[in-house]
Amino acid sequence: MSAASPSGLRGDMDFTLPDTALAVRDGVRSVAAKYDHAYWSRCEEEHRFPTEAWHDLADGGWIGLSVPEEYGGGGQGLLELAVACETLAASGGTAGTFLYILTPGFGAMTLARHGTPEQKAAILPGVADGSVQFALGLTEPDAGSNALAISTSARRDGDDFLIDGQKVWISGLENADWMIAVTRTIPAAEAKPRTAGFTLFLIDVKEAVAKGQLSYTPIPKMGGNVVTSSQVFFDDLRVPADRVLGAVDQGFPVLWDVLNPERILAAAGGVGGAEAALDLACDYARERIVFGRPIGANQAVQFPLAQIKAKTELARLMTYKAAWLFDQGLPCGNETNIAKLTGAQVAWEAANQAFQTYGGMAYSKEHPVERLFRDARIGKNIPVAEELILAHLGTQVLGLPRSY
Ligand SMILES: Cc1cc2nc3c(=O)[nH]c(=O)nc-3n(C[C@H](O)[C@H](O)[C@H](O)COP(=O)(O)OP(=O)(O)OC[C@H]3O[C@@H](n4cnc5c(N)ncnc54)[C@H](O)[C@@H]3O)c2cc1C
Repeated sequence: MSAASPSGLRGDMDFTLPDTALAVRDGVRSVAAKYDHAYWSRCEEEHRFPTEAWHDLADGGWIGLSVPEEYGGGGQGLLELAVACETLAASGGTAGTFLYILTPGFGAMTLARHGTPEQKAAILPGVADGSVQFALGLTEPDAGSNALAISTSARRDGDDFLIDGQKVWISGLENADWMIAVTRTIPAAEAKPRTAGFTLFLIDVKEAVAKGQLSYTPIPKMGGNVVTSSQVFFDDLRVPADRVLGAVDQGFPVLWDVLNPERILAAAGGVGGAEAALDLACDYARERIVFGRPIGANQAVQFPLAQIKAKTELARLMTYKAAWLFDQGLPCGNETNIAKLTGAQVAWEAANQAFQTYGGMAYSKEHPVERLFRDARIGKNIPVAEELILAHLGTQVLGLPRSY
């Protein structure tokens, strides 16, 4: 019997994952099993992109999952991508979440929905085989949480646009072939409504760097060093008009189709990261003997881990629901934000509790817990800070007054 759900949908409830998602879980798990915690810790220490894992995943079809089949990909949706991202993080590759967000997320998902046939044909086959990588340039020194305030400008010049401005924290540029650059073709002060005048461009990164029109400097950072995150300068960057992604001045809805998958993949990475931390903590709690018994027998050690397991399952459910809604083309903003909030929180709680469970050994670089701890912490602040999600839920869902 059909019933109305809180989101207004009608239909039978079915919580079984589709076969496609189960196949992704098995496939990514078997590749990821070759890349243990020591591998990810080594890449992190050496500030090195996990090239071997990337190509192995791509060869299995697990990077090109969301590329439509006609361009050589798996033709799957965000749900399958989220399962892949979660599975990689659960194997210990917590910073692997960046890998899934940048190229299959920003690149493939966005082009599949909004690219022209020419853009798709030129770029997507490379995403499918792992030879092409993506970055997203949104954040600016004066516009992070408030994306409406960006000031990077794009102005018409014949058949081209000229882009000028600065971005900050842009991840993955050292390997990126393409950057989705978010610009204003109408300055924020003149835009009516405030969301008007956004235009997204596909930037050929290597060409722009070679011409001196794009430069970047990696920011030394606390974790996630398998990719760099950089300060970026555009200096009269010339881009042909056929590189506009979506329509001129009307990029804001396109941007949401970039940001919602990013948040859902971040949530999935959080759920996987929580599982990775729980696995480590439980193994250690079973083996470490203090006062003649395993520390995991103490309820002060055991119960927080059990509580986090329950929260992980809840965050996973909401992540899958948000991904499913996105794939159906249904409104998914509230569910996406709840998934991102809870996925990031549980990843942090799990890493923090694993740290506690390890006692002094948590502080040793010999154990991966310190890396998981660093990777998990930033998830509460990016890609959207939890305060901004709470503000959204408070104002948009609960109908409370705005503070800003
Ligand atoms: C490792 C890393 C990788 C990143 N990669 C990318 C990338 O690839 N591409 C990209 O475009 N960006 C990237 N970012 C940027 C990231 O998306 C931003 O850092 C994030 O959106 C937060 O913006 P902000 O840092 O400017 O914080 P701010 O906007 O300055 O906010 C600072 C703090 O104030 C709080 N705050 C602000 N306003 C309110 C309010 N009204 N009520 C309550 N609290 C408020 C925020 O929640 C936050 O805690 C990355 C950042 C990091 C650290």
